[in-house]
Amino acid sequence: MTVQKPYRLLLYYMYVPIESPEGFAKQHLKLCKSLELKGRILVAKEGINGTVSGTVENTEQYMKIMKADERFADMVFKVDEVEQHAFKKMHVRPRTEIVTLNLEDDVNPNEVTGAYLEPKEFYEAMQQQDTVVIDARNDYEYDIGHFRGAIRPDIEAFRDLPDWIRENNEILEGKKILTYCTGGIRCEKFSGWLVQEGYQDVSQLHGGIITYGKDPEVQGELWDGQCYVFDDRITVPINNKEHVVVGKDYFTGEPCERYINCANPECDKRFMATKENEDKYLRSCSHECRVHPDNLYVIEHELSEEGMNERIKMIEKEQTANMN
Ligand SMILES: [Zn+2]
Repeated sequence: MTVQKPYRLLLYYMYVPIESPEGFAKQHLKLCKSLELKGRILVAKEGINGTVSGTVENTEQYMKIMKADERFADMVFKVDEVEQHAFKKMHVRPRTEIVTLNLEDDVNPNEVTGAYLEPKEFYEAMQQQDTVVIDARNDYEYDIGHFRGAIRPDIEAFRDLPDWIRENNEILEGKKILTYCTGGIRCEKFSGWLVQEGYQDVSQLHGGIITYGKDPEVQGELWDGQCYVFDDRITVPINNKEHVVVGKDYFTGEPCERYINCANPECDKRFMATKENEDKYLRSCSHECRVHPDNLYVIEHELSEEGMNERIKMIEKEQTANMN
């Protein structure tokens, strides 16, 4: 018997009209704080998108309260057990969209969206001929894990996806299109947008990667690497049958599944690196970041100017050696 962990993380969304997002957000923040939840919730006229952590008891109570609201009666909560809070603070923010796509003609997923495929159906569809699988997430999410053979749009933010598709439409023409994202919310809009663009055969993974990993039948099969998540865990495992590492260390290209942020606070670039290389390269993505006066790694490790110069010399020496 596995012991239940003391906390839970809820991931949920719903496209449903919310009259006054500002007023709703204020009230909702009070509710979340009274339940000692932590996390991030976005509210817009088009719906709600949230991820919160809390004790088993409090998250249970939260789901009960939400479902008692007829707007959210059918809300699907994806529940993960966690050891502790997965966020530092609680935010509820009014926005114009619950995922930012900035479309000229906005898509209402309740009116137009791709066909929903359950994990088993998605698993089978992925392996059929004339099918393209498009990752509807950002490049850094793809890089640490994705469905085997999925296309990686070269984008840093979801709102850039439509332009990328228009520039690369030859990939999709005449194909069965499958889309997927973390929890399903981005695909609701993105697949709807594809339909609106005139693509005939568009489907989406219902419940996203998270649901796919929990499905008792597919057990995450054909997923390689880890799944990037937007909480303190950073990544979660998906494939229970095998583990293929696809992430690569930024410095050496060796297999790696560890994301860190550049120690130059003005850069803050997200990249993968082993602990060894993090230390070796002072957790910095470039020479400029390494010698930045506010470099956090240098401050945390109290490196002297002399020590710094020595290490930078070593890095440069090695980089010249690699070039020759
Ligand atoms: Zn940097």
